[in-house]
Amino acid sequence: MFVPRSLKIKRHANGDGKSCVAKIIKSDPEDLQLDKSRDAPVDALVTEAATTPDRHSSESCPFPSPGGQLAEVHSVSPEQGVKDSHPSEEPVKSFSKTQRWAESGEPVCVVCGRYGEYICDKTDEDVCSLECKAKHLLQVKEKEEKSKLSNPQKADSEPESPLNASYVYKEHPFILNLQEDQIENLKRQLGILVQGQEVTRPIIDFEHCSFPEVLNHNLKKSGYEVPTPIQMQMIPVGLLGRDILASADTGSGKTAAFLLPVIMRALFESKTPSALILTPTRELAIQIERQAKELMSGLPRMKTVLLVGGLPLPPQLYRLQQQVKVIIATPGRLLDIIKQSSVELCGIKIVVVDEDKKLFKPPVLVFVDCKLGADLLSEAVQKITGLKSISIHSEKSQIERKNILKGLLEGDYEVVVSTGVLGRGLDLISVRLVVNFDMPSSMDEYVHQVGRVGRLGQNGTAITFINNNSKRLFWDIAKRVKPTGSILPPQLLNSPYLHDQKRKEQQKDKQTQNDLVTGANLMDIIRKHDKSNSQK
Ligand code: AMP
Repeated sequence: MFVPRSLKIKRHANGDGKSCVAKIIKSDPEDLQLDKSRDAPVDALVTEAATTPDRHSSESCPFPSPGGQLAEVHSVSPEQGVKDSHPSEEPVKSFSKTQRWAESGEPVCVVCGRYGEYICDKTDEDVCSLECKAKHLLQVKEKEEKSKLSNPQKADSEPESPLNASYVYKEHPFILNLQEDQIENLKRQLGILVQGQEVTRPIIDFEHCSFPEVLNHNLKKSGYEVPTPIQMQMIPVGLLGRDILASADTGSGKTAAFLLPVIMRALFESKTPSALILTPTRELAIQIERQAKELMSGLPRMKTVLLVGGLPLPPQLYRLQQQVKVIIATPGRLLDIIKQSSVELCGIKIVVVDEDKKLFKPPVLVFVDCKLGADLLSEAVQKITGLKSISIHSEKSQIERKNILKGLLEGDYEVVVSTGVLGRGLDLISVRLVVNFDMPSSMDEYVHQVGRVGRLGQNGTAITFINNNSKRLFWDIAKRVKPTGSILPPQLLNSPYLHDQKRKEQQKDKQTQNDLVTGANLMDIIRKHDKSNSQK
């Protein structure tokens, strides 16, 4: 994976509103390791409250230096920052209008919506410039003052309601006091079906979870007055730290159903990152992060990172190292990152194993009808596309074949060009795309070849090239492929060979039907038989 050696990355928009801390990260894989010093015993759901100092304290903060060591970084003026830092460093943007707009998935300035290149050291929010940082701090102050005015009792106490040191989900007295049949009745009416042992009762109100006040406030602000049925059952089970397999309709509130337990767990977990949310698409990841940020707003030390494709990797890597609590990722991008440096999640190291590679990066399998064709095509693919390609056919020795198969399972090749018979030896691999470069000589072989695609529940595609060399199979192909909804070219559907074969098959069917003895034709058959006998 290509990463430039030295690059500009996200900085902290620093405390005094005039200065900033510029950071440089070296791209060597060892530098991308997460900070090992954060290791501590893995906790269950209930943990000590995080005691690590705010990483954005304006005095100093450790992060990888160009040499790969931890370095102290100090506040400097913008001009000095430019002078002293790496030549490629740019000064922190002073004004919002000099910042570009954020691309989909990039952090967004909480004030103006532009690219949130910096992190406000006071609030952990994304800001685009010193101007927006100042505006943001003003807004926060105004909000605090307003809430003090509307709640004067609170004004005398702590500025924000402090979090307890730990959290244990306990059934609320209201839920505890319900009769078993009342619970069953409620579940039946709401369509809640549960399997599993000693599954805790559903909640009826968010208040039954004893969430921190800030979280209750965020729920209300997002318009979540009462939990949806999937949330009623999933949230308490999740808060207890149990594994859940849940299914509910689209739009039924599944995201918040898993996010709320994740947030509560991450909130009381001192290690970072403490949660990983894997989603199949980048759009879904962006949507989930947006919802997570809404719900986490104002909670201490809660920070998310989005690891998705289609955006530059270095800023995502850098953000991952900023003691984020929750990772929201697509498998492809997460794999790219893990391949460079292993990611530790709650003290558990995530590494790429061969099986994952096999599942995430299935190769393209191309079938041809001769050995020379396999070699030539494989070479051409590698030269033209740059994809790692290999040919496999009977002229390769047994050892060579074994090595190729091993390489395949380890994800060494992106394209495999094989002669049909040898393709049968590739039964083990699941592929994303099968190309029948030469149509095989029988339908059985064809079915076997396209069967390599989309196994293990994955989707796949098969592309078949046909020409008049396989004209005797035209009608068979159409019969077999059409019912699957695949697109057949008009040249095939209108081919005279196809129509000829279809007509012949229909005649044959008719003949077979005529030869069958039925009540209706029985007398005819006997008469015909007598006649031919008498003629003899
Ligand atoms: P989801 O099924 O998670 O995609 O949620 C669908 C929509 O419902 C999203 O816009 C959520 O913000 C919203 N939503 C989720 N839970 C609730 C709730 N308890 N009350 C009101 N809206 C909700």
